[in-house]
Amino acid sequence: MSPEQISVVSPPSAVESPATDKALALRLRVTEIFYSLQGETSRVGLPTVFIRLTGCPLRCGYCDTEYAFSGGTIMTIAQVLEEAAKYRTRYVTVTGGEPLAQKQCLELLRELCNRGYSVSLETSGALNVSAVDPRVSKILDIKTPGSGEVEKNLWANLRSLSATDEIKFVICDAKDYAWARDLVHARRLAAICTVLFSPSSKQLSATELADWVLADQLPVRLQLQLHKQLWGERPGV
Ligand code: SF4
Repeated sequence: MSPEQISVVSPPSAVESPATDKALALRLRVTEIFYSLQGETSRVGLPTVFIRLTGCPLRCGYCDTEYAFSGGTIMTIAQVLEEAAKYRTRYVTVTGGEPLAQKQCLELLRELCNRGYSVSLETSGALNVSAVDPRVSKILDIKTPGSGEVEKNLWANLRSLSATDEIKFVICDAKDYAWARDLVHARRLAAICTVLFSPSSKQLSATELADWVLADQLPVRLQLQLHKQLWGERPGV
């Protein structure tokens, strides 16, 4: 194992945050906090703490986290940080639901970064990401027509992306693919950051999507959901 690989799985440094008690006392509704392998993005396979916040204003047809729409437990940011610190990894993903639906999420992201975590945020692309801490890697969905939520895309979000972020399309069928392909070209998305194409697991074969991407020589990364291949579809993995 190279020194670089060793550092990849090191726990976060002990750098303490200058955060105010006020920030740490902010409260969030949390569906679950768990430790697993990152199943998507260019961090795939890395041991990661997932913080799943409750609530989402969208209703995508293929949603696999409907259990996060409601319920959850109220926790302070201090309690969330304490829970995350139980695991020996420097990788944290804040997800949902739509995590940005709770405005305190911005403070949580900042506090995680302040503690030395490498933080990614999974967001629907429907809410403004411009105030997200620049140290966070934003995984920004672009909703396709097949999702049923295409009109929710907030296109101004593209201006807030940089090379450390990623754009993700979940593709439901051939029509979705053509729509996404044309958008990649028209908005030169691959020049902004990595673009991920993921097949909607119950609607489209990954092989078919792979064949389309290759036939069009599209500058995107095909991704499958590693966690579903390993453990199937259930909460907390
Ligand atoms: S944005 Fe995500 S959590 Fe919300 S409905 Fe769509 S897939 Fe589900």
